[in-house]
Amino acid sequence: STLGELDALVVGCRACPRLVAWRESVAEVKRAAFRDETYWARPLPGFGDERARVVVVGLAPAAHGGNRTGRMFTGDFSGDFLFAALHRTGFASQPTSTHRGDGLALTGLRMTAPVRCAPPANAPTPSERRTCGPWLERELELLEPDVAIVLGGFGWQALLATLTEQGWSVPRPRPKFGHGVEVRIDGPEGRSITLLGCFHVSPHNTFTGRLTPEMLDEVLLRARALTGR
Ligand code: SF4
Repeated sequence: STLGELDALVVGCRACPRLVAWRESVAEVKRAAFRDETYWARPLPGFGDERARVVVVGLAPAAHGGNRTGRMFTGDFSGDFLFAALHRTGFASQPTSTHRGDGLALTGLRMTAPVRCAPPANAPTPSERRTCGPWLERELELLEPDVAIVLGGFGWQALLATLTEQGWSVPRPRPKFGHGVEVRIDGPEGRSITLLGCFHVSPHNTFTGRLTPEMLDEVLLRARALTGR
């Protein structure tokens, strides 16, 4: 199968009752600013280049961001910060990502997540993460990226847990998250991936200067260097 076929399957998934209920109820209530919009309210497929050597991995979609627009990191402050950096470093065709169909294209990079549905309080349960794991594993199998830029400690823990469950050789004890930390992990069938830690692009980090544009650019350029391209 192809990534396109995988994306179509992901979008139809209803395996986690709590998350299905949440993603759909958020779409009913909405946020005042988006009152006139029809929310996506489904799982988010990966977004970006089907031949990407780099993936960006968060944790799960935001209720009024990706869950609204149907595209990862699209339509909120986190995404604004991220896509501006992707444009500066040559991965994105434009510096903003406002809605599906805005013409944005990514080159050499794809976005994905260990959990594809928006969770209450941005916190999926371990069992929801486990249920969603095979989608990510299948995407990594089809894509075989060299590098995963992992945004934030929660995403890092979720990705390592998912890789462990999906048969990857994650070291014990699990490597700790940190901004700039690099860890190579071997996977099934001779695959391997280098995880590159990066503070999350949430306003909590970017409005306070904990993560600056320069720091994010540096991680993105490091990822590109690791691919040898
Ligand atoms: Fe399906 Fe993943 Fe959404 Fe659960 S979180 S319903 S497994 S897509």
